[in-house]
Amino acid sequence: MPEASEAAAAVQGLPTATVVLKPKRARPFFGRHPWVLDSAVAKVEGQPADGDVVDLATHDGHFVARGLWNSQSRMRVRLYAFDASTKLDAELWHARLASALALRKTLGLDERAGATRLVNSEGDDLSGLIVDRYGEYLAVQVTALAMAVRLDTLCDALESLVAPRGILLRGAERGLAKLEGLSLVDRVVRGAAPVGPIFVHEHGLKFGVDLAEGQKTGYYLDQRENRQAAARYARGRRVLDMFCYSGGFAVACAVSGGARSVLAVDTSAKAAALARANAELNGAANVTVEAVDAFEKLDALAAAGERFGMVILDPPKFARSRSTVDDALRAYHRINRVAVGLLEPGGILVTCSCSGSVSRDDFLQMLSGVAQRSARPIQLLECRGAAADHPVSASCLEGEYLTCVIARVP
Ligand code: SAH
Repeated sequence: MPEASEAAAAVQGLPTATVVLKPKRARPFFGRHPWVLDSAVAKVEGQPADGDVVDLATHDGHFVARGLWNSQSRMRVRLYAFDASTKLDAELWHARLASALALRKTLGLDERAGATRLVNSEGDDLSGLIVDRYGEYLAVQVTALAMAVRLDTLCDALESLVAPRGILLRGAERGLAKLEGLSLVDRVVRGAAPVGPIFVHEHGLKFGVDLAEGQKTGYYLDQRENRQAAARYARGRRVLDMFCYSGGFAVACAVSGGARSVLAVDTSAKAAALARANAELNGAANVTVEAVDAFEKLDALAAAGERFGMVILDPPKFARSRSTVDDALRAYHRINRVAVGLLEPGGILVTCSCSGSVSRDDFLQMLSGVAQRSARPIQLLECRGAAADHPVSASCLEGEYLTCVIARVP
């Protein structure tokens, strides 16, 4: 194909090349799995530029799916359509975004002052794109080169569908960006950035979110429903919120839940300041926040013989990859064992893992181990995941990463 028509094909969302799979490697893609790794690829017919539309074919030439090419990533192709008639053009991205927004509307999460994940990558058939709404602003996180190349088109669609005051780009985690060959810098891509923190609503509570400097895209939206679920057990209890970030669990337990008092801990001074501000914003005078290391604090509280009616553990990702799962499980075991020791009889443990490579089963087995070693029964009450505005594709279960177990220790 001559160069000019290749460019035209790209604009029209049609393939410029065909990626041919090795024999017997097509099955996951007939099952709509969106990630084609280099190890499955036999050859490339054509010379696609990174971000170009390509077709995926079986070794004997049958169409499998349509996706976007990235020579710099082990994930050579990300798939976005499974029939040969779908063009990967502006119209398609617009339609996918509209469908994602329709889901949030179904969930009742389309309030303008709310904080919601509007697009959850594979879970919304938009592999490599995350869009969070914080009131009038959108925070966009791009984790695939193919989406970075189309950032303008995607922002056009978001502007026409949501009409935000500003769209902010937040870079992917450093490791991820390197794997994709991405070099995006955080910046305002449309409109204006908010001046200072913005305030969002969550279940009748207000939270200040620092869009420019905060962790993730500014806030942990995935735990929204789990914070409320935890709060339902908090009445009258002395609560310990470990790894509190901006104080989501602490404030929910104190205000919605009616906890007697809350001690919240985060090693980051910035996070602790946010948590203090959020407690104050919601009139929670019984929340104390300490900027100290949670592991040391847990040991110190245990050594001092302190007791709590509820302990919340929401640590950062312990396992970065499959090879570190065993170490991660040992670390989960250690903090959960100390937490169980801190609970008074009938106390509630809220324990989370956001390590995608630690399965829910592994996490529950870890809790069995804690029950055995601490010689205390653990009653599992609720086993929860991320909020419903973080949908997971049944064809890409790798998107499932968050476990939140609520348990009672008699
Ligand atoms: N529960 C929070 C999210 C927690 S994210 C919410 O609902 O919003 C994990 C937090 O752990 C981060 O804020 C991070 O700063 C903190 N953290 C990481 N290592 C830590 C350590 N060693 N001690 C205490 N906090 C730590």
